[in-house]
Amino acid sequence: MAEPRSRPASGDTEPSNAGLFERACAVLPGGVNSPVRAFGAVGGTPYFVASAHGAHVWDVEGNRYIDYVQSYGPTILGHAPPSVVEAVCAAAAAGTSFGAPTEAEVRLAEEMRARVPGLETLRLTSSGTEAAMSAVRLARGATGRNKIIKFAGCYHGHADSLLAAGGSGVANQGLSGCDGVTPGAVADTVVAPYNVVPKVDEDTAAVLVEPVAANMGLVAPQDGFLAGLRAACDGAGALLVFDEVITGFRLGRGGAAEFYGVRPDLWCFGKVIGGGLPVGAFGGSRELMAHLAPLGGVYQAGTLSGNPLATAAGLATLEALDAAAYERLEAVAARLASGLEEAFGAAGTAAVVPRVGSLLGLFFGAETPRDFAGAAASVARGLYAPFLGAMLRRGVALAPGPYEAIFVSLAHSDADIDATVAAAAEAAAELP
Ligand SMILES: *Cc1c(COP(=O)(O)O)cnc(C)c1O
Repeated sequence: MAEPRSRPASGDTEPSNAGLFERACAVLPGGVNSPVRAFGAVGGTPYFVASAHGAHVWDVEGNRYIDYVQSYGPTILGHAPPSVVEAVCAAAAAGTSFGAPTEAEVRLAEEMRARVPGLETLRLTSSGTEAAMSAVRLARGATGRNKIIKFAGCYHGHADSLLAAGGSGVANQGLSGCDGVTPGAVADTVVAPYNVVPKVDEDTAAVLVEPVAANMGLVAPQDGFLAGLRAACDGAGALLVFDEVITGFRLGRGGAAEFYGVRPDLWCFGKVIGGGLPVGAFGGSRELMAHLAPLGGVYQAGTLSGNPLATAAGLATLEALDAAAYERLEAVAARLASGLEEAFGAAGTAAVVPRVGSLLGLFFGAETPRDFAGAAASVARGLYAPFLGAMLRRGVALAPGPYEAIFVSLAHSDADIDATVAAAAEAAAELP
């Protein structure tokens, strides 16, 4: 397939990353529309993407990168897969938003339900943030309880009540980690350390968890953690909410719930189900979801919820995710993980590359973190930023922050992986 053009027609002034960042900073706070894109955590200025195809992105200066950001997860087929592009174009030509239901919404919901055992009904939103925020409201409305428990280092979008900061090691109640979030907004949020089953009492509406933590690097659940949460919630009559915005439809057809054999009461989804367009969803049993308006008293809505372009992209994405696709994704991730570990080993750099299915993380240091404190200790070594810089110079894009997962796609070839490993071997040798 032809590589897309990345440069403007001759005669135009050629844009540069630095020039665009300067313009961006004049009109967008920090030059970006989502903080991690600003490279604040790693230094330098962002590359501005001109186009992307398969496993690769091209910046406005014509540099090509093997891309492991992949929009932080949605583009599981790689960038601009023809089936998704065609579905989105066809949907757009038939109208972009109606304020009335469409068949595509029903089809996407049916497809999701068919893949996730226990998921009976769901509501589509426009982001994972809305999905998690709405799941919390539903859990509170359905149980008549106020308190929620979340885990330090787990990200559930940027709703106020979910932006409570985690202290390391001990559960903190009512501490906001964000200016503008009032003590009242997080007064009912308890933050507990990941991988330890907290005490769940009868004031607790819900326990929210990323079943594989993928927003503090990649931290796998220890044996018994998820089952322990299930039992603790059952014992207290609280709802267990799996935030599968990253793991859903990525760890396998049935996501983390199926992967670990633990079924939550509510799921949150996003990312993969939109194939790169803005989508989220939350769902559970028919009975629980009946608390939601218009059937019940928990209000939740969205002008663009179930948007036809997004549902078309999501459907085309899920349709490509069969058993062979998951096998391939896992094989790609395994090749990358073992290659990176070898490269670091050869360079004498202490690093671990945890992997769950096709999800990968990278931590400098000899320890595999099992909670946020462990992840933070690795990050404090300060090796991620120089490693990232050395990889970018070699045409490999990892996320510009040390707490992000590494995302492979179906478009990554063995040659892409081998080139990445070769770059990592050189980059590791440059580390201080
Ligand atoms: C990305 C993410 C969210 C938020 O989704 P947005 O679409 O960015 O609002 C929520 N939960 C998890 C686990 C995520 O990774």
